[in-house]
Amino acid sequence: MTLKHEAAYINGRWQSTNNTIAVDNPATQEVIGRVPNLDESHIQQATDHAHTAWQHWRELPTTERGDYLMAWYHAIMAHQDELAALMTEEQGKPLAEAKGEIAYGASFVKWFAEEARRANGNTIPAMSRTQQITVIKQPVGVCAAITPWNFPNSMITRKAAAALAAGCTIIVKPASATPFSALALAQLAEDVGIPKGVFNVVTGKASMIAKVVTTDARVRKISFTGSTDVGRQLMQSAATNIQRISLELGGNAPFIVFDDADIDKAVAGAVAAKFRNNGQTCVCVNRFYVHRSVLSSFESKLVAAVKALQVGNGIESGVQLGPLINNEAVQTYQQHIDDALEHGGNLLYGNQAADGNFVQPTVITNVSPKARVCREETFAPLAAIVPFDSETEVLDYANESEYGLAGYFYSESVRRCWRVAMALEVGMVGINEGLISNATAPFGGIKASGLGREGAHDGLEEYLETKYLCFNFAD
Ligand code: NAP
Repeated sequence: MTLKHEAAYINGRWQSTNNTIAVDNPATQEVIGRVPNLDESHIQQATDHAHTAWQHWRELPTTERGDYLMAWYHAIMAHQDELAALMTEEQGKPLAEAKGEIAYGASFVKWFAEEARRANGNTIPAMSRTQQITVIKQPVGVCAAITPWNFPNSMITRKAAAALAAGCTIIVKPASATPFSALALAQLAEDVGIPKGVFNVVTGKASMIAKVVTTDARVRKISFTGSTDVGRQLMQSAATNIQRISLELGGNAPFIVFDDADIDKAVAGAVAAKFRNNGQTCVCVNRFYVHRSVLSSFESKLVAAVKALQVGNGIESGVQLGPLINNEAVQTYQQHIDDALEHGGNLLYGNQAADGNFVQPTVITNVSPKARVCREETFAPLAAIVPFDSETEVLDYANESEYGLAGYFYSESVRRCWRVAMALEVGMVGINEGLISNATAPFGGIKASGLGREGAHDGLEEYLETKYLCFNFAD
């Protein structure tokens, strides 16, 4: 059985087309395979089948849906090495990190396998003596998920597992750069007997697929992870049929190092929060704010840690930073560096010419808060440091952003920890912690970073409708 399919997966069948899209390896820039460029009729068929499958899937006891998901979880973990190799080939991240993502992605499947049975409603005391008010939860229906390339497995599982647990069926459209990880998940879903039509993977032109799923009133929910611009467009399209929508969008996370921080811990957290996935995560730090009294100590320790990071093809052992996803990403990285230097920044390390999609991790200090890196998502291994003098000043800097996904800070003062955690305008806060993603926690942002939450019980609620039953038992 192969996990690498050059075909879409609709209603339990592998669908090929003559018209295809090439997928390349960002490390070598060689084509590693092709997937179908489906047309509108295929997406409509996928919707028809997902709708038919929903009639049966929604009726299953939650424990039975949970059993299917648990079997899927075990199948994913049993194939962790092959799935990771496939991911490194199409996405570029180091093999160890890819293995980590498979385990992280699978953890959502396990979480929702268990949480399926807790789609609880409630009862509410009525205002009339002869009424009983009962609230029940029901699946929203057919869902469509559009996902990005930076986490080709887990951005799918955290949507699909929640949807399936709730009793919904789903059509997944993965990023065109990384479709093979999605198709491998479909193979494993098939292997464990998830009924046909429940989990579908379609490939092709994103705008066409989005148009079909947002104009079909049978699709009751759109869940999107990707850029804020595309999220905005999808929200407008979803308005046509008043579809539910969840949006996990871009970020520009601040990372604050206060004068009372443990600097060694802050540096370790900074490396994890900035350089994981080569800076290509939505919760990656984009801007470091460091109190002037600890600036030189933080700078020298961060540079030492960054110098030790090994860049290379993710399949080689010891590599910690793979390539960026494509040349456009390399250009954004370079533009943000040039702009930070033009805004008075001093280069501490890095900024050597790119080699294909490989770039050097770079550290720049004394960057102006007006630089692009403080306003836009870089999505690359650039650490830009802005010095600050007071807590009020740094909170203004941190909150002066259209984004509100994640924020991090380091301080040893419990009072300051509470004050700052309460004041940061973000959906997630790392307090003396650089790695915050977790299947048991509600992941998501505020402001232009999105709507809704994934993971935790909140993630299940995103796929459930609330229905209130008013029962009159008067004689
Ligand atoms: P993107 O360009 O928005 O693409 C994401 C997905 O949307 C892909 O499947 C893409 O398909 C599709 N797409 C592109 N244009 C579309 C359109 N007009 N209509 C509908 N779908 C469209 O984003 P990306 O560059 O892949 O991903 C990086 C972004 O995702 C960053 O901003 C990052 O912060 C964000 N992100 C957020 C989270 C979170 O949880 N908040 C997590 C991970 C990533 P094609 O690949 O076929 O173009």
